[in-house]
Amino acid sequence: ASKRGGKMRCTWFKQAFDRNLEAIRDMDTELRKALLDGELAVHYQPLVDAQSHQVVAVESLLRWHRPDGKVIGPNIFIPVAEESGLINAIGLFVLRQSCRDALEWSGIKLSVNISAAQLRNPEFPIQLGQILEETGFEPERLELEITETCLVLDPVVAERSLDIIRGFGVNVVLDDFGTGYASIGFLRQFRFEKLKLDRSLVVDSEGDEGSRAMMLSSISMAQALKMHVTAEGVETQAQADLVRAAGCDQIQGWLYFKAMPREEIAQHLSQLTPEGPPERKQA
Ligand code: C2E
Ligand code: MG
Ligand code: MG
Ligand code: MG
Repeated sequence: ASKRGGKMRCTWFKQAFDRNLEAIRDMDTELRKALLDGELAVHYQPLVDAQSHQVVAVESLLRWHRPDGKVIGPNIFIPVAEESGLINAIGLFVLRQSCRDALEWSGIKLSVNISAAQLRNPEFPIQLGQILEETGFEPERLELEITETCLVLDPVVAERSLDIIRGFGVNVVLDDFGTGYASIGFLRQFRFEKLKLDRSLVVDSEGDEGSRAMMLSSISMAQALKMHVTAEGVETQAQADLVRAAGCDQIQGWLYFKAMPREEIAQHLSQLTPEGPPERKQA
């Protein structure tokens, strides 16, 4: 009886596995169509200077607007696109669209997430160069956010590509720091211009002394290596005070702004002047 049970369980697992594969394949087909049909939209979340609270940059965050009105977040569909390789086409779309949109948002930087699969593609730096040329976007205003998986998987290709990309004048940022295993040696090897502290580290720092110590030492390490630091996912004033006191240069989080569609961010940025918000000018 136990043998039969085992066999049944095996069949059950196989069926569940096949259904899962099928669901992934279906989503990939739909995603391919979504890219062609213009259902993918880049939204933008501002990053503010920790001291002045002025917007200093925006991060591109992809959204899938389904015809039925539902909006799907990138955590659901980016892994599917990474699996199939579709991420290469999607990534180029995000870069091109972001550079076009941000062209007129002068004075602020643009930060774009890049998947490991994109960075492993040896064609990527050339494609990036073409997009910069075609859109006229200043490379000095562009930052690429990568995670350590990008670099661990294929460090030789990654390092070569990052050298070319930096040669254009583009900055490289390590995203989601504090969730993986990045060591001091790793940070020195890749010489990131900026480090983004993951939201989990920020959240845990509030209540947990160990996490706070980890955050503080990450920040001093970054400063010692001449990297700028952004705190991600700041939702409360207490968290903002904590990361500012700890020495973060920039803050990103719902306390200040959520990601918003292009029209909305454009509207918001057009109200800002180099002297500050419009209220101050009127006074
Ligand atoms: P990420 O690069 O770490 O982006 C930050 C994520 O945190 C975003 O989620 C953002 O909406 C969310 N967030 C920002 N502030 C807060 C906050 O105060 N509280 C909370 N709870 N969340 C906050 P989102 O937009 O769902 O993106 C998730 C991830 O998907 C991104 O994480 C990034 O890894 C990936 N992603 C997004 N767009 C792209 C893209 O165009 N290309 C690639 N390759 N990956 C992307
Ligand atoms: Mg990011
Ligand atoms: Mg992040
Ligand atoms: Mg994160």
